[in-house]
Amino acid sequence: MVEFTREIFWNLGPDKRTIVYLLGAVAVAIFFYGLYRRYSLWRTVSRGQGAISLEGLGRRVSLLLTDGLLQRRLLREYYPGFMHAFILWGFIVLFLGTLTVALQEDLTLPFAGVRILKGSFYLYYKLFLNIAGLLALLGIGMAFVRRYLLRPSRLSRGYEFGIVLLWIFVILVTGFLLQGLRIYTLKNGWEVWSLGGWLIAEVISGWSPQESSVLSLHKIFWWSHLFLSFGLITYIPFSKLLHLLTSPANILFRGATPQGVLLPVRNFNEPYSFGVSQVEDFSRSQIFDFDACTECGRCQDNCPAHLSEKPLSPKKAIQDLKKRWLQKGKGLRSGQEGVANGELLDEDVLWACTFCMACMESCPVYISCYDKIIDLRRSLVLMKSKFFPEIGTFFRNVETFGDTFGKGRAFREDWALGADVKKIAQGDRVEYLYWVGCQGAFHDRSSLLSASLVRLLKTVGVDFGILGKEENCCGDPVRRIGNEYLFQKIAGRNIDHLKSLQFNQIVTYCPHCFNMLKNEYPQLGGHFRVIHYTELLRDLITGGQVKVNKGIEKKVVYHDPCYLARANDLYGKPREILASIPGLQLVEPLHSKRQTFCCGAGGGHMWMREIRGKKINEVRLEELCREKPEVIATSCPYCLVMFEDGVKSLGIEGVKCLDLIEMIRDAI
Ligand code: SF4
Ligand code: SF4
Repeated sequence: MVEFTREIFWNLGPDKRTIVYLLGAVAVAIFFYGLYRRYSLWRTVSRGQGAISLEGLGRRVSLLLTDGLLQRRLLREYYPGFMHAFILWGFIVLFLGTLTVALQEDLTLPFAGVRILKGSFYLYYKLFLNIAGLLALLGIGMAFVRRYLLRPSRLSRGYEFGIVLLWIFVILVTGFLLQGLRIYTLKNGWEVWSLGGWLIAEVISGWSPQESSVLSLHKIFWWSHLFLSFGLITYIPFSKLLHLLTSPANILFRGATPQGVLLPVRNFNEPYSFGVSQVEDFSRSQIFDFDACTECGRCQDNCPAHLSEKPLSPKKAIQDLKKRWLQKGKGLRSGQEGVANGELLDEDVLWACTFCMACMESCPVYISCYDKIIDLRRSLVLMKSKFFPEIGTFFRNVETFGDTFGKGRAFREDWALGADVKKIAQGDRVEYLYWVGCQGAFHDRSSLLSASLVRLLKTVGVDFGILGKEENCCGDPVRRIGNEYLFQKIAGRNIDHLKSLQFNQIVTYCPHCFNMLKNEYPQLGGHFRVIHYTELLRDLITGGQVKVNKGIEKKVVYHDPCYLARANDLYGKPREILASIPGLQLVEPLHSKRQTFCCGAGGGHMWMREIRGKKINEVRLEELCREKPEVIATSCPYCLVMFEDGVKSLGIEGVKCLDLIEMIRDAI
């Protein structure tokens, strides 16, 4: 009876086993030495601040499985996604296959006389490994075509990428060749299960070479395959292949804060510099990000600053910081203090960021650029007082008048004149505290929407009140511009005041206030239940209190505000509100939901000149208008202002920009 199996060291002789194991041990030793060198570089440069977090381990492991192993984020783009997945999955299977051989040869066979790789299991094993190898080859081919023929601008084309691709290609090809030569020599009819090897054996049989030549060639390919494979193992820690380890590690150990939440400066009384002015000021986890970056360029392709021709590319920023880190680390290791100081990134680069989080959202390994940019901005603003003159005025307005417009508390509740809205005083108790925000209180158009919202809430009998003249700026733009000191002062005051009042939930008009009160105030002790008005409105509609009975027969494109959709996963409820309006035809733009595109106002840009490149609001508007809408709907006062400005500057006709508040107001 035919036994389906094979001799592992066929054509090599048993004495070669020791040499193989010795070579393997040397390769593994070099691999770990390389890892140790990298680890010590990381320890040398980072000052130890910012421990690597393991909070929420279950979620981290599930992200590792979905984004690391199953490549969920990478597969959002089919070609590069499958290309990478084929290579990764192929190599995982081949690695597990090799482990099974080692298990049999070193454990089960010598100690228990059990051969694992035999019978039908062996046939399936061969089939599976061959398919994996062929897929990996396909992936490598796709990578060559993409990097060197299609040449998308986001990819670098340095020689190291080419070396790695060629190296892996040759390992795979030699693997198939030596398999084909063995199958040709042994002529077992059943080896068709080794798909790739069998095809090569068929080709060889067309030439009918001498057996001695085939055996010699087999030896040459076998040893080449072995040396190249062990060589690749030793190369990993010294090359871009290190991302095989650092990328999954980054997914596992990334900070536990929700996306977009900025970490606070902890103590302003310490005699220390604030923000980051030298690369070693970054936390360990931030420095680890540099090494986890695979240079895939997805962040760059989704960054509104880059796409509007500003000098910021998140990929380049991360790579520039990595270069500084390596320079500094190598300098420190060789005893040269003070290496590589100076500006880490140009000021123009720092001011271009809108804190839209698209870089983090698109990064397969969860690297954010904005957490580095905010630390660098903090150093500029707090240590060097470097910012645009209009930002100086903006800071004074917020600090002196408590609002971003510089109008003052005396006028803060003017928008509510005639609306008879309850002002919450100490001792009062309400269900909802309506947080109006500076836009909702002072901006001409937004204040009308604020008034519409409160009228609607009053009509349906919602128990709510406002702070009136006691409300202040929440501090979002101040913090994102980099003035953490002023932010903490404002936020601290707000938190103390809010704590003195009695309400169940805060409902905000602006997504930036919403994100700030919900996700960032807890850092300073302000723990409140916070919702956005779209959540309340949707509940009132589905609960039947708000009856939408007039139709709006229009084609509507909805723009997701970054701080609702991306930072807080709030994209379903605004769509439910729109879906409740009879006759309305909702269309989706290219970038929507979590993958939305910034309107250009975040990160303090509402108050800054946009002097470089195209205007971000116009870039987004052009994309929205590709859907030929009659209405651009949104649920953020910043986005609304940006789009109304853009419609005027681009001379777009026949398109209205509306907030969901007014759409519902008109539909009831
Ligand atoms: S936060 Fe937005 S603007 Fe800033 S780097 Fe990331 S993608 Fe670009
Ligand atoms: S930061 Fe992330 S998305 Fe950007 S190049 Fe690096 S790995 Fe790719």
